Order: sequence, then structure tokens, then C-alpha cells
Amino acid sequence: MAEIQLKNVTKRWGSFVGVDKFDLTIPDREFLVLLGPSGCGKTTTMRMIAGLEDVTDGEILVDGTRINDLDPKDRDVAMVFQSYALYPNMNVYDNIRFPLKVRKIPEAEHDARVKRASAMVELDDFLHRKPAELSGGQRQRVALARAIVREPNVFLMDEPLSNLDAKLRVSTRAQIKNLSHELKVTTIYVTHDQIEAMTLADRVVVMSKGIVQQVGTPTEIYDTPANIFVAGFIGSPAMNLMEGTLSGGVFEAANVRIAGLPSDYDGPVTLGFRAEDASIVPDQGELSAPVYSLELLGDATMVTAKAGGTIISVKADKDFRAAIGDPIQARIPAEQCHLFDPQTGKHL
Ligand code: ATP
Repeated sequence: MAEIQLKNVTKRWGSFVGVDKFDLTIPDREFLVLLGPSGCGKTTTMRMIAGLEDVTDGEILVDGTRINDLDPKDRDVAMVFQSYALYPNMNVYDNIRFPLKVRKIPEAEHDARVKRASAMVELDDFLHRKPAELSGGQRQRVALARAIVREPNVFLMDEPLSNLDAKLRVSTRAQIKNLSHELKVTTIYVTHDQIEAMTLADRVVVMSKGIVQQVGTPTEIYDTPANIFVAGFIGSPAMNLMEGTLSGGVFEAANVRIAGLPSDYDGPVTLGFRAEDASIVPDQGELSAPVYSLELLGDATMVTAKAGGTIISVKADKDFRAAIGDPIQARIPAEQCHLFDPQTGKHL
């Protein structure tokens, strides 16, 4: 069992606020991903849970017990870093075994536990190799096995895939997802990669400048972003966002006119829609603008068009072709549009 509660957890260095009133309950066995751009406070939040960073204000509780002042070694958490931190002169077996020695687990248990952990990450055949004789992906799996072997209640993972190449990242990602399911351990995972977050998480916490912007399932975050920051951060490409004016349910901006929107708000708005919710049409489209670029994706073509100063992405059929500068029209269904307050950034 490990339910983690963060109660208004704040980290300040002098007047600089690294993490501001982080308030969340993470139920037992949840896979929670902290997502946000560099410097948003993800790592600091995780380090406070691990006990590697003092909490300035607020409380951290595990299963109802306050752990703010508990030594890192007395917290039942195992951390996996992006740098792996393996001991170069120990072989894989001894690297995985190391936490058992440190924790004075009876020697008689070591062999079975090391073998079980190494089998889970498919390293059985590499136990006698030194880290230098392994690929990056294999080293990362040693780091995972070393966390697994402790059988902790909580896993903390800080960008564990960032040193791997794109292909290995995808396969190791699948392995981590599978492991977390098998181990049934509360996991907090830090990344700035929104695809990693969406594919791994039960819930995602989107952070910016030390402040939690939204907490939700990947679907909630994708379908109903709480504000402009989340809308612009999630999705590949991110949501199209344009400034314009709403009047009587009609949005108008350069090259764009969309009718049938909610009519209970008049004035300047930021309108958002996703590339896949729009489509290229021969005429009568809500968007009418010249092609800016075409990207062939294999299963589709991403068309961008320049509307005023804004680049708008529209996902088109894989056979769609046009020259740069050609006029195109796109249908943007009103029911797929999001409206944001341009001042506060909040979803209207
Ligand atoms: P990244 O993805 O780059 O690792 P992050 O979201 O994990 O970023 P943190 O490492 O948590 O960000 O840092 C949050 C903010 O706190 C940053 O602006 C950072 O410069 C600042 N910060 C971190 N450690 C300290 C420190 N010891 N003293 C002062 N400021 C710090």
C-alpha cells in the first residue's frame, strides 16, 4: 500500500518559488506522470517526495503518515534517474544486488530477488557483463531492475528514457508500462515529453512555472484542456490557437470565420481546435488561406496554412497534395472548437 498525499507542497529558494502549493492525492498503484517544460518544477517535486530536497511549506504523507522529516533512506521509495548511475566496476548482477546489501536484506534472499528482477527486464543473459559492455537500453534496464529488486512501495522515475534513441525509447516505454502493471506499485514519472506522458499515465499533472495547470487522465487533458498553456502543450501538433473576436456565436479572425459557437460570450477570445478535427474542403470552409507547408506523415498529410500571422495545421488525407502558396479551404466544426479567455488563459 502506498497512497501519497501532497498537501500544498511548496519549494522556495529565497524569493524564487520552484514549486507552488502542489496539492494532490495519488492513490495506491497509480501511474502518475508529471509533465511540463524544462524548469517547471517536476524534478523538484519528485526530489521532495524522495527526501532529496527539503519541503519549504506543506506536507507530504504516505499512507497518512507525514514523511517531511524522514531521511531518504528510510522512505520506501526507489528512484530511477536519466543518468542510470550504475557502478562501472561491478557487473550487472552486483549492480542489481547492491540495494539489497545496503539495506541489509538477508543474503539468502539475494540471488532469487536479483534473478527475478533481471528476468522482468530481460537481462538474464547479461548478468556477468560490466555496464561498459552494454547498450544504452540495456543499461537503462539494469537501472530499472535495481529499483525493482528493492520491492519498494513507490517508484520515482526522472526522465528514464531521455538518453535512449527514438526507437529504443518506444520499446522501453512499453516495457515500463508493462512492468508497472505487473508490479502494482505507485509510480511517479517525470517527463517533458507529452507523448510519453499520454502513453504511460493513468493521470497526468501538467505543470508550468512551478504551478499545477491541470490534473487529469490523458483523454481529459487532451479533450478538455483547462487553459491555453495545456492546449498548446499537449498533442502533436499542439492545438491550433488563434486570437479573434466572438460576437453572437460567430468567431472572426484573419482568414477565419466560424459560426454556431456559444453565444453567451462576446468579445476577444482565443479559439482552439485540433488539426485532426479540421478537414480540407473544396469551398465554403471556415478557413480560407494559402498553404504554408506540407508534411507527409505516411498515413496522412499535415497541411499548414498561414492565417494572419498564425500557422494553422489541418490533417488531410494521405494523398492530398498542393503547392506552397496555393489557396485552400478547411472545414472547422464549431462543436470541436475550444474557447479561452485571452487574458486569464482559462477555458471558457
Ligand atoms: P527539467 O526538465 O529541465 O529537469 P524541471 O521541471 O524538472 O526541469 P526543476 O529541476 O524542478 O525543473 O527546477 C524548477 C525550477 O527551480 C527551475 O527554474 C530551477 O532553475 C530552479 N531550481 C532548481 N534547483 C534550484 C536550487 N538549488 N536553487 C535555486 N533554484 C533552483
